[in-house]
Amino acid sequence: MKLRLSIAFLGGVVLTVSLVVFLGAGGTVKSPTGTAPDRYVYYPGTEALATDEIRLIACGTGLPAARRDQAATCWLAELGNGDKFLFDVGTGSMVNVAALMIPYDFLDKVFLTHLHTDHWGDLATLWAGGWTAGRTKPLRVWGPTGATPDMGTAYAIEHFLKAFNWDAKTRNYVLSPKPGQITVKEFDFKAVNAVVYQENGVTIRSLPAIHAGDGPVSFILEYVGLKVVIGGDTFPNKWYIKNAVDTDVAIHEVFLTPPDLVKFYGQSPGQAIGVGTQIHTSPPAFGKVMSTIKPRHAIGYHFFNEQGTHDDILEGVRDVYSGPLSLATDNMVWNITKDSIIERMIVSPDQAWSVNGPNKPPAPPAPGTVPDPISDFIKSGRWQPAEEAQAPMVKEFKKENNLK
Ligand SMILES: [Zn+2]
Ligand SMILES: [Zn+2]
Repeated sequence: MKLRLSIAFLGGVVLTVSLVVFLGAGGTVKSPTGTAPDRYVYYPGTEALATDEIRLIACGTGLPAARRDQAATCWLAELGNGDKFLFDVGTGSMVNVAALMIPYDFLDKVFLTHLHTDHWGDLATLWAGGWTAGRTKPLRVWGPTGATPDMGTAYAIEHFLKAFNWDAKTRNYVLSPKPGQITVKEFDFKAVNAVVYQENGVTIRSLPAIHAGDGPVSFILEYVGLKVVIGGDTFPNKWYIKNAVDTDVAIHEVFLTPPDLVKFYGQSPGQAIGVGTQIHTSPPAFGKVMSTIKPRHAIGYHFFNEQGTHDDILEGVRDVYSGPLSLATDNMVWNITKDSIIERMIVSPDQAWSVNGPNKPPAPPAPGTVPDPISDFIKSGRWQPAEEAQAPMVKEFKKENNLK
């Protein structure tokens, strides 16, 4: 059975949801003390994934300028084999990732489409935040080369760690240094449909993208016969059209219309037409991509999604494409199997804590193995009455935990 629902959410955002063989959302509540069998929402951490299932989560769908309602680009793919992959970690997106309450050890694989801040600005938050909150291993980052070595991912990560040198050296003394490391796998941005990752039944390929400079890519994720294309920033390109066929879910950017870039985003008309139609994808161009590749489900993102912008984008897309479509906002989730693609919204706490994983939190380094970043001069300023005030608490904690 196939049906399409339009759901009006609070705030006026209208979502078009296409469901295949699914008719349960909001299902009947049979007694006043009973439970609701199916809702339009997903509560993180409450549903096991089937082996043949992918859960795709929009953790950031916005723009480089900050907005509380929408972080910049970040997609999380959770697979039925236990693997989880972050595709981009744009500015602000880690608050949405963190609200899923996934142990940080499971969030160690990051694929970057390109090096604009709205696609990797929150790597710092994942890196340092996860380090302080129980990650036991280094982060692994995959990303493209650039036209020259200084425009590539390896250079970016090397200098990211240099920029955060003070952060790393001070944390290294009190935390295990290992989770503060980042391993980089850089791959050729020009390679077409080339395998950049293949482990545990999962294949990830990359495609060149046309966006702002040489280097940006899109990714194709394949698992148990399911295919999800994660489009990075790009003008529609021949590589995506050719390789994103037979796709279960095709994500592709769709940008604000030039008039809306002027009206809402403070751009000049000259800038708006360049940004909106040359290095990004306009709504009719997005529609043309999707009506050509015909995915089971199309997802457009990378705009501030509210009534005014949404309707202008939808109109442009619908002139050209009539298939299943979501215009994404943060905290949308899709459960993808061969039989169905179900879209819901996530309900998660604003005050989430990190959750322990199966691995024990690493111990701090042994004394003398990492240079002490605090000088005797600074240590000499410790105020004794505070030491004395906390002494009983310190003694009790050390005794309870067998600490010297
Ligand atoms: Zn970009
Ligand atoms: Zn972008």
